[in-house]
Amino acid sequence: MRTKIVVGNWKMNNTIAESTQLAQEVLAQLGEGFSGCEVGIAPTFLAIQAVGSVIGGSPVQLTAQNCHYENDGAFTGEVSVRMIKAAGCSHVIIGHSERRQYFGETNSTVNLKVKKAMSEGLTVIMCVGETLEEREAGVTGAVVSSQVREGLEGIDDITGLVIAYEPVWAIGTGKTASSAQAEEVHDLIRTVIVKLYGEAVASELRIQYGGSVKPSNAAELFAMPNIDGGLIGGASLNAADFVAIVKAAAEN
Ligand code: PEP
Repeated sequence: MRTKIVVGNWKMNNTIAESTQLAQEVLAQLGEGFSGCEVGIAPTFLAIQAVGSVIGGSPVQLTAQNCHYENDGAFTGEVSVRMIKAAGCSHVIIGHSERRQYFGETNSTVNLKVKKAMSEGLTVIMCVGETLEEREAGVTGAVVSSQVREGLEGIDDITGLVIAYEPVWAIGTGKTASSAQAEEVHDLIRTVIVKLYGEAVASELRIQYGGSVKPSNAAELFAMPNIDGGLIGGASLNAADFVAIVKAAAEN
């Protein structure tokens, strides 16, 4: 039985004060001692420590939106795994489509980051997903399979890894993949993992769906056999919506 995982990706939104306030609202609405599923929130790096002090000791996991694969050095504007761990993060999102699209991330940089973050004991959420052009060209399966294979190249042990399937055409667009469309790709990802790591490992792997998840569609998505939670963008900026999605995961 896989524990569902829901993570709110706040992207480049909210000042430190706004982030702190949102984290307080999430905690208050989730209720003390919530335990129905794994929950995380990913503020900007600037707000990481402030949010960490709000959620410290609670069931909500502090999550980074990105990391670098080197420990330190001349990488202006970057933050290393060592640094995010020291700031209290237990989880990190790697290879989000916005990182791939706007910041030149490739399957090989994703691979370096995943290797580094996993070797340092973080829970890695590795994002994969096809563009609209790729879906229309009928190459969704090929694209997603290579993202999974190349992202995990040279990694023998994927214990604790989470994969987020996020069709690029559904992110921030209001267009959600139907639960059947999402399930089809989640099943394909699990099959790739069976080939790479065997049945036992694949059956433990959690695969989140991301792409315009809202309180109104969360339950249907989370009821699918291979959908193990969600990576939530826009809806995570509203505490009531985010908590409703978390509760939908906890109930499915
Ligand atoms: C995301 O950025 O990971 C995401 C899924 O965004 P949204 O929920 O806004 O589509």
